[in-house]
Amino acid sequence: MQETSAILFKHFTLSTIRYFVLAGIPFLLFYKFFTTWFNENKIQNRKANVKDFVREIGHSLQTTAVFAVIGYLALQSPIKNYTRLYTNINDYPGWWIWVSLMISLIIHDTYFYWMHRLLHHKKLFKLAHLVHHQSTNPSPWASYSFHFFEAWTEGAVLFVIMFLIPIHPVTVILFTIVGFIINVYGHLGYEIAPKRLRNSILFEVLNTSVHHNIHHSKFKGNYGLYFRFWDRLMGTEHPDYVKEYDRIQQKRFGTENQKAPLQSQSS
Ligand SMILES: [Zn+2]
Ligand SMILES: [Zn+2]
Repeated sequence: MQETSAILFKHFTLSTIRYFVLAGIPFLLFYKFFTTWFNENKIQNRKANVKDFVREIGHSLQTTAVFAVIGYLALQSPIKNYTRLYTNINDYPGWWIWVSLMISLIIHDTYFYWMHRLLHHKKLFKLAHLVHHQSTNPSPWASYSFHFFEAWTEGAVLFVIMFLIPIHPVTVILFTIVGFIINVYGHLGYEIAPKRLRNSILFEVLNTSVHHNIHHSKFKGNYGLYFRFWDRLMGTEHPDYVKEYDRIQQKRFGTENQKAPLQSQSS
């Protein structure tokens, strides 16, 4: 019992450090030290205030505690014996670490899209998801700002992945780090995508910070996490997304970027 609580405490400490480092560094850069520098990158004109940050950090700490329990259950409790977790790295080729990471992100995106649509059902929205949507102008601190119930449904994706594909603990750790970095980017409040993304095929596939920011400001549309795939397939992408993305990028890069919106409207 004492050992279990020590493991849980270790998971909680690591997941809290991950939160404060990966959300804290961008917060300091964009909201404290270089705010003027990034002025053109700002998605909404409004400024999030300290009250928002405190609420977001409070809920996020609760989420890190839930994720600590999930991490323990998935990796160190007897549940792991029913999953496809492998600990001998030589059981699969080295490249599988990276391929399984990519597949994990695709599974997560699909899981998240449908869970998120469900959470927007009237009753579930009021009961749980409203907590995340209190951040109508999100900051990096909002990345884990979930209701207790939503924190469990968010974290449970780990079990889904571990039941579906052979996965090494290293990939699990990479998945939580990469997933969280993309999550922070979605809640950054600033668009940092390079200019060339707009005319690349990746723009058609990947989500951007503007994409998720619109979900927070409008409450409807743009339910995807990493990719645009499900929103486009299900017709749930916000109709103003590309226009809004182009508006921000033109603010950053000037009128020379104007070719892009014309191309987008014809596609
Ligand atoms: Zn939502
Ligand atoms: Zn969000």
